[in-house]
Amino acid sequence: MKKTPKPLIVGNWKLTPNTLNEAKERYLGIVKVYKKFKSVIDAVVCPPATFISSLKKKDVAIGTQNVSFWTTGSKTGEISASMVKSCGATYSIVGHSERRAMGETDEVVAEKVAEVVKCGMIAVVCVGEAERDEEGNYLEIIKSQIKKSLGRVSKQEVHKVIVAYEPVWAIGRTDNVAITSHDLHQMAIFIRKYLKEVFGIAGDLIRIIYGGSVTAENAFDLYLNGGVSGFLPGRSSWEAETFKGVFSATAEAVKELKKRSRQVTKVKPPRRK
Ligand code: PEP
Repeated sequence: MKKTPKPLIVGNWKLTPNTLNEAKERYLGIVKVYKKFKSVIDAVVCPPATFISSLKKKDVAIGTQNVSFWTTGSKTGEISASMVKSCGATYSIVGHSERRAMGETDEVVAEKVAEVVKCGMIAVVCVGEAERDEEGNYLEIIKSQIKKSLGRVSKQEVHKVIVAYEPVWAIGRTDNVAITSHDLHQMAIFIRKYLKEVFGIAGDLIRIIYGGSVTAENAFDLYLNGGVSGFLPGRSSWEAETFKGVFSATAEAVKELKKRSRQVTKVKPPRRK
């Protein structure tokens, strides 16, 4: 039987914490609580780029929140993918809505994704509508973002890309206004179908994760019924204890899914007469 990959949980620290000491403390705290979940979950944290080289890499992988699409030269203030890679980053978030809000276009996102992949890192590419309309036009927005943002990824490179569905309206909210697992499931099916349209059978290899107010309270339901392979939590990853809650709820959902699949395989086909 094909082994299902472990869920992937990518914590986005955004513009926190303020100091390197706090970042070190936070990282070690997360590493400590993650130990218990290591066998069932893959974990990544994305601190501000300045802290990456100083964090002593442990079981929790390190990613960056953004990279430049330029590689070198007179580009003041930019940080390239190969720079963060040389500091120990193995993942990069690309096209987060907070960067798109600063003017980052799909075309720029596509360039960055290409750079990240070329450097041998995994690109966590964020897509998501700003709002939902009754007519379902937001589905076209998602399609267009995926088509353009992954425009430079070949079929051979799909395993180096993760699609993070992050509806902008669900980011920074509390869990009772975050997405429902039913709506998430619909969207996961829609994205999967479109990825297969674009990449053919290789589209099945792209993991789809969800971000937008993921907490210890909603992670169980979202993972169990949402049809995604993991999460991209922001605020919940800022403290070891709250991040632990997300690990724990996801691990419980994994257990429940395994239990259900054992029950299904136990059902014997009817005997032929
Ligand atoms: C995010 O930063 O991508 C995010 C989803 O944030 P939060 O979980 O805080 O809504």
